Amino acid sequence: MSSVVKLTTVRIALFGGTFDPVHRGHLAVARAAIRRYRLDRVLFAPADLPPHKLKRPLTPFFHRLAMLALAVSGEGRFVVSAVDAAGKRTRASYSIETVRRLKRRLGKRDRLFFLIGMDAFKDIATWYRPEALLKECDFIVASRPGFSLKDAFDALPLRLKPKAIVDRKRHAIALGKTTVYLMGGVRVPVSATEVRAAARRGKSLATLVPARVAAYIRRAGLYKR
Ligand code: ATP
Repeated sequence: MSSVVKLTTVRIALFGGTFDPVHRGHLAVARAAIRRYRLDRVLFAPADLPPHKLKRPLTPFFHRLAMLALAVSGEGRFVVSAVDAAGKRTRASYSIETVRRLKRRLGKRDRLFFLIGMDAFKDIATWYRPEALLKECDFIVASRPGFSLKDAFDALPLRLKPKAIVDRKRHAIALGKTTVYLMGGVRVPVSATEVRAAARRGKSLATLVPARVAAYIRRAGLYKR
């Protein structure tokens, strides 16, 4: 009897954020990344205590997780992950820790991408250990109107710039073992800030979030203040 060795590679993107709440912009970015980079899964991982967003009190983690679960239902390749749940942790979790935690759970042949919007990527040099993070996995940066490959290059930490090779054909920046891909063409200019403001004013959320998420926000009375 011959044994069958599984040699399949799973292509997974980690899509982190506060998702307060998840909205149509996030979903459009994830769908586009699946199509363009032949991804098998996008893991939506809401941050529990994100280092960059503590100026504003976040909606409790379970509400953000519940809205994500509603938003991804029916989308076969979307998964909600609690990889960034605080648990007993008392301080903010850094992306490099999340990525390493996730990589330990993946198979050797699997390929991990870090999916991020350009507005967040432009500050990457100020993150915790940005060089190490950029060496851990490939990045897919969802561009926004007005941003170019040069902006992605400019955002790189100084120490990585001399090694970076701009590949205009692939719309990418090669960083030795890893690559930063710039994904253009997603134009859904919704932000969570706009959703919260609309909810506060009692406006319709129909164009901003999926219907089930809008119903959840209404029923749970979120973003009233
Ligand atoms: P807020 O308005 O509260 O700052 P947000 O809408 O940017 O929130 P986040 O949860 O902070 O949502 O975003 C998670 C990730 O998704 C970030 O990398 C962000 O850049 C990206 N992103 C959010 N909205 C869009 C959009 N409309 N198009 C492309 N990328 C987006």
